[in-house]
Amino acid sequence: MAYDRNNIFAKILRGDIPCKKIFENEFVLAFYDINPQAPTHVLVIPKGEYVSFDDFSSKASNDEITGFFRAAGQVANQVGATEQGFRLISNCGSNGGQEVPHFHIHILAGRKLGKMIAAA
Ligand code: AMP
Repeated sequence: MAYDRNNIFAKILRGDIPCKKIFENEFVLAFYDINPQAPTHVLVIPKGEYVSFDDFSSKASNDEITGFFRAAGQVANQVGATEQGFRLISNCGSNGGQEVPHFHIHILAGRKLGKMIAAA
C-alpha cells in the first residue's frame, strides 16, 4: 500500500491541523488521542512516511526504529504511565482495525484495561 500524504497524521506532522502535543524530536511526534479510550491515551508516530508497523519495521532505518521506541518509552514515562502500568497497541491493516494509514502506537493507561482483545 502506497503512503497517502493526505492522511490525518501527515496533516498533523505538517502543522496543517493542530494536536495536543506531548513530545517531539527528530524522529517522532507524540500527542493525545482525540477520542480517548482510557484516562491517558497517547499516540506516538514516526516523522517518516510509513503506512503501518509492517512498513516501518521493514523499511525504516536503524536510527529511526531506535529513535522511535526510545522516544515512546520516554513518553510513557512523561505521562506517568509506567508507574501503574499501561498497554501499548499498534493496529495494523484491515483485520487489525487500523484507521489512520500512518504507523502509530497507542499508549493506554490510567485504569485497569481489562482483557487484551475486546469481544468482536
Ligand atoms: P487506529 O485505529 O489504530 O488507526 O487509530 C487511529 C486513532 O487516531 C484513533 O484512536 C483516533 O481517535 C485517533 N485520531 C484520529 N484523528 C485524530 C486527531 N486529529 N488527533 C488525535 N487523534 C486522532
